Amino acid sequence: MTINTSNSPLSTPPTEPKQSLKGLLPNELAEFFVSIGEPKYRAQQVFKRLYAQQTHSFDDMTELPASLRKHLSGVADIHPLAPSRLQESADGTKKFLFRLSDGREIETVLIPSESVEEDGVPKRLTLCVSTQVGCALNCKFCATASLKMKRNLTTGEIVEQFLQAQQHTDKPITNLVFMGMGEPMLNYDNVMKAVEILTHDDVQLLGARRITVSTAGMVEGMRRMADEKRPIKLALSLHATTDGLRTKLMPINKKHNLRELGDTLEYYYRKTGSPVTYEYILFEGLNDSEEDARRLQRITRRVPSKINVIPFHPIDFTNPDGVSASLRATTPEKFQAFIQRLRDLDVTVMIRSSSGKDIHAACGQLALSNVEMPLA
Ligand code: SF4
Repeated sequence: MTINTSNSPLSTPPTEPKQSLKGLLPNELAEFFVSIGEPKYRAQQVFKRLYAQQTHSFDDMTELPASLRKHLSGVADIHPLAPSRLQESADGTKKFLFRLSDGREIETVLIPSESVEEDGVPKRLTLCVSTQVGCALNCKFCATASLKMKRNLTTGEIVEQFLQAQQHTDKPITNLVFMGMGEPMLNYDNVMKAVEILTHDDVQLLGARRITVSTAGMVEGMRRMADEKRPIKLALSLHATTDGLRTKLMPINKKHNLRELGDTLEYYYRKTGSPVTYEYILFEGLNDSEEDARRLQRITRRVPSKINVIPFHPIDFTNPDGVSASLRATTPEKFQAFIQRLRDLDVTVMIRSSSGKDIHAACGQLALSNVEMPLA
């Protein structure tokens, strides 16, 4: 990597943009410190400070000499995101709006599980992070698609969503899902580097099996995850049991159809031995029939798996047209009947809740919508 920094001695004022230290792995941090004439071991000190101790200012890194702290303040930055807005749902879900250094914005959602411990504390606290500003894949049920693709997030911007969300809860975040804005496989390197930082032995913010990457069906990324034997989990957004409907709902299906996706997941399972999760949003009259349940069972039985069935959440606030405008949620009765059919077919099914729907934070609703509340 190229470290963006001046090689000037400590006394010379910086002439270049500040180097963001968030998102650098220890070896990259070491390269940075060597480039400013410091010993390599500073990297380990700062790495632990940034992630394990979550220190927010160079001034608080008191194990560093005062002259170095002052110099770092001039040439380096550790705040790739500025918190902008926090919305809180009646069900405890929190949606964060973050402003990036180029003025663009992203959303991140923190979701407490409905199941609780005896003392009423949620069993899981899941953070749904964004990986891109907008998205190019244009899935018809997704509010993010209306933003179009702007750019990939940096590793620092991805990790910082976790660190800032953690500051706004007194319970540790237990799970992380790459299911926010953007297709994570199209920003593969930065996403995987963020995973390496969050799960690093010196940091241990999360175990790898607590992290899930969800893809709309980018087979190159899935194969790469398999070849690299990444210990995190994989989820596929399926949402249809025929290529005709899937292509209508998810144009990416023209490039990678159901057969190719099935072959890829078999490859993934052979390489990693990890079960996969299928995401399946139920749309009234489109994919909620008995025949759909049977086809879904046939599609998903190729590898050990479970299916998360998800209610469709309205995206009217994005002024949808065409296919998007015609989508409706399956009725609660048909929803339950579909779940029962799958269970009768011995399929492992989970029902994903609609947490955060009242603040447009539920699955598929992230599009920088405004229900304003200042960030506390
Ligand atoms: S569902 Fe995911 S991949 Fe599809 S448009 Fe939305 S953010 Fe992109």
